[in-house]
Amino acid sequence: MITLPKGTKDVLPDNSYKWQFVENTARETAKVFNAKEIRTPVFEHTEVFARGVGETTDIVNKEMYTFLDKGGRSVTLKPEGTAGVVRSFVESGLYAGALPLKTYYITPCFRYERPQAGRLREFHQFGVEFFGSTDAGIDAEVILLAKTFLDKLGVKNITLYINSIGCKECRKEYHNALKAYLQKNYDKLCDLCKDRYEKNPMRILDCKNENCKAITENAPSILDYLCDDCKAHFDRVQSLLKAAGVEYKIDPKIVRGLDYYTKTVFEFVSENIGAQGTVLGGGRYDGLVEQFGGGKIAGIGFAAGIERLLLLLESAGDIPNDNNLTVYIAPMGDDARLKAFELVTALRGAGISAETDYMNRGIKSQFKYADKLGAKFVGVLGSDEIAGGVIKIKNMQSGEEQNVPFGSVTEFFR
Ligand code: ATP
Ligand code: MG
Repeated sequence: MITLPKGTKDVLPDNSYKWQFVENTARETAKVFNAKEIRTPVFEHTEVFARGVGETTDIVNKEMYTFLDKGGRSVTLKPEGTAGVVRSFVESGLYAGALPLKTYYITPCFRYERPQAGRLREFHQFGVEFFGSTDAGIDAEVILLAKTFLDKLGVKNITLYINSIGCKECRKEYHNALKAYLQKNYDKLCDLCKDRYEKNPMRILDCKNENCKAITENAPSILDYLCDDCKAHFDRVQSLLKAAGVEYKIDPKIVRGLDYYTKTVFEFVSENIGAQGTVLGGGRYDGLVEQFGGGKIAGIGFAAGIERLLLLLESAGDIPNDNNLTVYIAPMGDDARLKAFELVTALRGAGISAETDYMNRGIKSQFKYADKLGAKFVGVLGSDEIAGGVIKIKNMQSGEEQNVPFGSVTEFFR
C-alpha cells in the first residue's frame, strides 16, 4: 500500500464539513471587515522567504521545503503566507492603489518539522494582511477580526496575549540589556539559543526548552525600553481594545518566530490542546514592504492554524454539519427507478440535495443506507405509489408519513 508522506493528512469526505465550516467562517469574517481575498502561488523563489521571513528564523534555517526545479532554480513551498502576499503587493503595484488595502488568504503551508499533535508538515492557515496604515486603529481592527473569527467559530477558553516589540531603535537598546542579562548563563542555553544570542537574542524568550525558559524567567522586559512613539502606539492599541470590550493580557515574552515584526505582536492561546496551544499569531511588520522594494508602507496581519483550530473545535464537539442529505428516494422495481431518477433530477435542479439507489438494494437496506447518509426524509416509490402518482415521504425524525403527488415534490421541500 502506498501511504501518506509523514506529517500530512487527508481530509476525508465525512470530515470535510468541518473544514468548510472554518473556511466559510473565515470568509464571512473577512468580508464584514472589508478584506478581500488574495491568492499567491504555493511555491516562490526561495529568496522571497529567505529574505522575507528572515535568515535567522527557525523556518528559514531548518523548516523549509526547498528544491531545485528542472531549470536549476531554487524554489520553496510556502512555509507561511505573509512573504508571498508582500511580494505580490509590491510586484502588482497594489501599493500605488487606495490604502489601506485589506487582504486575506486561506492557504496550505509547508514546514519540515517533527510531526506531533498540532504540528504537521503540510498545514493550513487563514491569514490577513492589512497594508498602508501606521494607525493603531488598524492594529485593533486586525486583533478584532481575529477575535470575531474565533468567537464565530465558537472557540472557548482562549486568551489573547499582546505585546510590543518596539521598532529598530528601541530594540537596539533592549538587545544590549537582554544580552547583558543572559551572558552569565550563556553556557546553559540550548545550542539554538546560543546561535540566537548574537543573531536575534529576543527569540530566546520564545524558546520551548525548559532550561532556556528558566533562564529567561526574570529577563528585562521590552516594555521598559520602548521609545516614546512605540509606547504611545501600544497605549493607543490598548485603549481601542478596551473600547471594543476585548479582554487581553500583556505578555512581554511574546516575540513571534519571524524576523519582520515591529511594534504590536499578539497571540491567541488555548489551554485545551496541550503544548501546541497557539492557534493564531500576528503582528505589525512596518519594514517588510520596503524590504521587497515597495517603499515605506506599513503592514500588519495574523495567521491562524486551521488544524489547531479544528483540534479545539473537535474537543468541544460542536461543529455544525449542514452537509446532510435532504431526501433519499427509495425505488422498488424498474418503473420506480425511472421515476426516482426523474425526481432526484428535478429536486437537484431546485437546489435540494437528493439521492437514490444505484446498488440494487432491497427496501430495508435502502432505509439503512439513507440513515447512514443522514437523510432527513426518505421517499418510498413502490408499484402502489407509481399507480397513484404519488411518493410516500417519511420524515426520519418524527416518523410522520405523507403521500405527495409527483408534481408537488419539489414544492414539499422548499
Ligand atoms: P509554533 O511556535 O507553535 O511553532 P509558529 O510561531 O511557528 O508556531 P506561526 O509561524 O506564527 O507559528 O504560524 C501561525 C499559526 O500557524 C500558528 O499559531 C499555528 O496555529 C499554525 N502552525 C504553525 N506551524 C504549524 C505546523 N507545523 N503544523 C500545524 N500548524 C502550525
Ligand atoms: Mg514554528
